[in-house]
Amino acid sequence: MNNTVKILLFFLLCSFLSCGNKGMGDAAVDTTVQSAVSVAPSSVPQFDADSAYSYVAKQVAFGPRVPNTAAHEACADYLASELKRHGAELFVQEAVLTAYDNTKLQARNIIGSYNPDSNRRILLFAHWDSRPYADHDADEANYRKPIDGADDGGSGVGVLLEIARLLGQQDPGRGIDIIFFDAEDYGTPPFAQSRMADSWCLGSQFWAKNPHVKNYRAEYGILLDMVGAKNAAFFKESMSVRYAAPFVEKVWNAARNLGYGKYFINAPGGAITDDHIYVSGGRSIPCIDIINYDPNTDTGFAPYWHTLNDSMPVIDRETLEAVGQTLLEVIFND
Ligand SMILES: [Zn+2]
Repeated sequence: MNNTVKILLFFLLCSFLSCGNKGMGDAAVDTTVQSAVSVAPSSVPQFDADSAYSYVAKQVAFGPRVPNTAAHEACADYLASELKRHGAELFVQEAVLTAYDNTKLQARNIIGSYNPDSNRRILLFAHWDSRPYADHDADEANYRKPIDGADDGGSGVGVLLEIARLLGQQDPGRGIDIIFFDAEDYGTPPFAQSRMADSWCLGSQFWAKNPHVKNYRAEYGILLDMVGAKNAAFFKESMSVRYAAPFVEKVWNAARNLGYGKYFINAPGGAITDDHIYVSGGRSIPCIDIINYDPNTDTGFAPYWHTLNDSMPVIDRETLEAVGQTLLEVIFND
């Protein structure tokens, strides 16, 4: 054979082999799609509400996660080990933060990163500490007792741990950072004598000044706070709309398309002092807050808010799923 014929035969053989391979590949993909839709690379993973619920229950079982307590310390270790187990690169940021009454809080911001080298990043965050005071309880005798914080603290972290579990199974193809901020809920209670500016959100304030990665940037951020109660109502929080309107629309549209419009209300909400304010302001990252806050009620917050009733019975799997599945849709289809 001369070289021309050899080359011709070579190409014919190659095209035959590649046809055969392609056919086999397609068959293999088809089988995968039929047997397990959630592992197909282009699909959005299915949020497991039972798993998220048990992540909330697990946190509550430690006891109130009030800084400087054994329950707080044990829960921090647990959250860090879960992020690591689900394949995140782990950063634990320790800080001594000064509370409104000058108490020195041993605090930890717990951070898990997926695709840490990617320039396209979304930041997902929630606070993991719980309020030391049931200062809105119906019974004044409970004002100084710590709350379980099943919804206020536990629910946001539970949803994000379930998302971490899924990110460990399926690459989102972009950078995702999950931050559990500490000391959000140690703000000045009404019964305190002293007053301090910016006494809430101490963990996120610290991180905004000292990010875990130098010059940290993300395209946008999503805060989850009180996202687990039955019949929760997420109005469009006004600081989110002011600083991150396109991302509010993106998330609310995704929720509506998935059939979760009864939770994600297409109407303006109030302005809330929450971790997103400090992340937006301190690091110039547009952030939105998904929070159960109805501007048409007395306090805006649900009746169990900052009371001893913020415990497991208020948590509803359907609400956790509405929030978690919406976030996955945004992350994987953005
Ligand atoms: Zn709170």
